[in-house]
Amino acid sequence: PVDRAPEIQEARLKLPILAEEQVIMEAINENPVVIICGETGSGKTTQVPQFLYEAGYASSNGIIGITEPRRVAAVSMSQRVAKEMNLSHRTVSYQIRYEGNVTTETSIKFMTDGVLLKEIQKDFLLSKYRVVILDEAHERSVYTDILIGLLSRIVPLRAKKGRPLKLIIMSATLRVEDFTSNTKLFRTPPPVIQVDARQFPVAVHFNKRTPLDDYTGECFRKVCKIHRMLPSGGILVFLTGQAEVHSLCRRLRKSFPFHRNAPRGGEEKEDSVEEMKKFKKAKRSKKVVRVTTLPNIDLDNYSVMPVDEGDEDREAGDEDDEDADLAGSDLDLDLGDNGLEDEKPDSSLPLYVLPLYSLLAPEKQAKVFRPPPPGTRLCVVATNVAETSLTIPGIKYVVDCGKVKKRFYDKITGVSSFKVTWTSQASANQRAGRAGRTEPGHCYRLYSSAVFSDFEKFTPPEITRRPVEDLILQMKALNIEKVVNFPFPTPPPTDALVAAEELLIALGALQEPPKSGRPKKLQEAKLSCPISPLGGTMASFPVAPRYAKMLALSRQHNCLPYMITLVSALTVREIFEEFDRPAVSEAEQEMLKGKKARVVQMQRIWAGQGPSQKLGDLMVMLGAVGACEYAGCTPSFCTANGLRYKAMVEIRRLRGQLTTTVNSICSDAGLFVDPKMKPPTEAQVTYLRQIVLAGLGDHVARRIQAEELLDEKRKNGYKTPLLDDPVFIHPNSILFKQLPEFVVYQEIVETTKMYMKGVSAVEPE
Ligand code: ADP
Ligand code: MG
Repeated sequence: PVDRAPEIQEARLKLPILAEEQVIMEAINENPVVIICGETGSGKTTQVPQFLYEAGYASSNGIIGITEPRRVAAVSMSQRVAKEMNLSHRTVSYQIRYEGNVTTETSIKFMTDGVLLKEIQKDFLLSKYRVVILDEAHERSVYTDILIGLLSRIVPLRAKKGRPLKLIIMSATLRVEDFTSNTKLFRTPPPVIQVDARQFPVAVHFNKRTPLDDYTGECFRKVCKIHRMLPSGGILVFLTGQAEVHSLCRRLRKSFPFHRNAPRGGEEKEDSVEEMKKFKKAKRSKKVVRVTTLPNIDLDNYSVMPVDEGDEDREAGDEDDEDADLAGSDLDLDLGDNGLEDEKPDSSLPLYVLPLYSLLAPEKQAKVFRPPPPGTRLCVVATNVAETSLTIPGIKYVVDCGKVKKRFYDKITGVSSFKVTWTSQASANQRAGRAGRTEPGHCYRLYSSAVFSDFEKFTPPEITRRPVEDLILQMKALNIEKVVNFPFPTPPPTDALVAAEELLIALGALQEPPKSGRPKKLQEAKLSCPISPLGGTMASFPVAPRYAKMLALSRQHNCLPYMITLVSALTVREIFEEFDRPAVSEAEQEMLKGKKARVVQMQRIWAGQGPSQKLGDLMVMLGAVGACEYAGCTPSFCTANGLRYKAMVEIRRLRGQLTTTVNSICSDAGLFVDPKMKPPTEAQVTYLRQIVLAGLGDHVARRIQAEELLDEKRKNGYKTPLLDDPVFIHPNSILFKQLPEFVVYQEIVETTKMYMKGVSAVEPE
């Protein structure tokens, strides 16, 4: 029996899914596989595990497992469910890639989908589970898709063994035909239970015109209008990326500041200039009508206000650009931490602005669930994370820029680029729905209805949009040889499968197919190569196959500790802060310039002397991680040296994990993570470079010869085997000026040009 607090019980009873408990449990009792669809916020994630627990599904016979595509959700949902059930995290636990609090008492386990995939490798029948819930299946993350395919096979196998496993697939949208009408997946279509949304109506307002590019500015103006003119209720803004989120947060905080209580322990130093500005601002805002005194507002007319109307919001926007944000980005993030506002009549419109994106530290993310300080209005500026996986209480207004930032890959060349594109209609509707959770709401779309009708209906599943070599290796390690026959909910394109198998063969992870036979036969053979012993070892490392290969080669000459560090840094990526971002003000510009100069100086030191310099950017990574660990991996060291603290912590965890994996594969390795790792010797650097080349053998580029014959555009360019156009060393690379004749690169990212990142020099044969 579960002993819930009265207020929790009351809140639960308001959730639409509670009314369906009996229907859901009957369906689960009678069917091996059940699909549950219900709007975000209807209570799927927090309640279904509790239904199962109370129905006795967690016992000595097995536990309840729930997968989430995002780490944020796995952690926060386990905490929420533990709280609702009045149980400790020893019973309701989580496991994400690097950490977890699972115990022998765990009955309900939240985890990322990647974690469950790894567990299948160790125990194909998932014998410790009685129920597996795949949450957020509508997101169509690659791992969730693969898990659906695998579980469609595991469920019947478990039934045969007389230890049935229940599979529950949960989706926030009704678009589940890829799961139900795919007979390769489930021969009998599983029942679909639809949870009544009990959604309040949301009035959708389109802009008359679509801003050409400045959608953040448009967001700013819209939020200002809502805040000044519309009744109370939280605002949720959808933008595309972290930098945008921060810049909008900064602008809004400046326009609608609120005072905190007396400073504690001198952590906030407000100089007189700052005070003066606040004073001026407070005076200015007096002329603004207070929200509460405002009579009826015709919301339907709101949307037909011209976009470029020269109103006071616009004015506030311009002023915002003028007065410098001297605090810098790190400080800003903490604004509002120590709560509260003494309600001076002067600061009339305090707005409690919070950022939300997946890389944000969990304790900062958790703030959005707490009520805003009294007298303030909550405004959350978010990326896609807020679209379905987290429900923020009290949102009444949604401002949707209509865009999404996605990484695009070229299937053949692997060149990647980040592009901001229009989102899909389904996703825009999800965003709008966030406004109607607790009362009728409004969604302001910063684009016209004509533009909306040109959006694609649904976002295509991730598996169709990215290279799949890591998945193929994992599947081969599960002895799924004919990957083409695997019951994917949506299969990846054949050319992506072929490219993946070819790479894995080149890396020696798969056994080479016989060379004879007709081309068509050959392709078939290529698509069904069994895994090699080396591939088996590689599959046990939780990193990309190229990096796994480097690890597998590093046993000699004591290179493993270095390679583990290097691979960790390459996997975590982007270890340096971004200083090339556009500044909001001149002061910020200066600050960024100063920081960048400091980082460049440090990078030169980390790149080392003599032969180690040839390792280039990879040597810089080694040096940076080494120096950071030596200093105890503190936030202050990271800030001072332009390193991303979050990245460094993740690198540390991955080093630990890889070290444990190596030790478990070869019991005589006896490795440990050394915080005082010495720089590699000259000989070791030579080996490291050879090993890197073996892993990135297809990522070699040669400087274009006969420079004098070239036009400006091709100057300092490199030629790669697969691309016709030249590629270039990224300006932030330590080798940018040296221009070695041969280089090997981690990846090519296309921005204004095709740039190689993570570059090392290679000796010609
Ligand atoms: P779904 O999975 O269907 O989207 P959830 O189970 O996540 O729905 O959410 C149900 C309700 O629980 C929502 O109203 C949400 O606001 C609330 N909730 C979820 N997590 C928390 C939390 N950490 N703190 C407070 N309320 C929460
Ligand atoms: Mg959910």
